Amino acid sequence: MPTYEYRCLKCRRKFERLQRITEPPLGRCVFCKGKAERLISAGVGLIFKGSGFYSTDYKKKPKDAVKSVASEPKAASPKEPKTESTPKKN
Ligand SMILES: [Zn+2]
Repeated sequence: MPTYEYRCLKCRRKFERLQRITEPPLGRCVFCKGKAERLISAGVGLIFKGSGFYSTDYKKKPKDAVKSVASEPKAASPKEPKTESTPKKN
């Protein structure tokens, strides 16, 4: 459950409310019952756009993508039999 941050338009105080995503935004200040507005993802770091939950975590490098390239052993040198490379002229 995300924490939403509100700011009262009347007394200018900020407060946080733990709410469900489906829950309607709180319209009232908890201090003076004045009108409060919800601050969009301020100080929380979460962006709620469909399936984009915790989008900050997915910006890190995927470790498995790098591993498949680096794990290849060094066998790139051509294996030519060098025993027969000497000229057989007499
Ligand atoms: Zn207030």
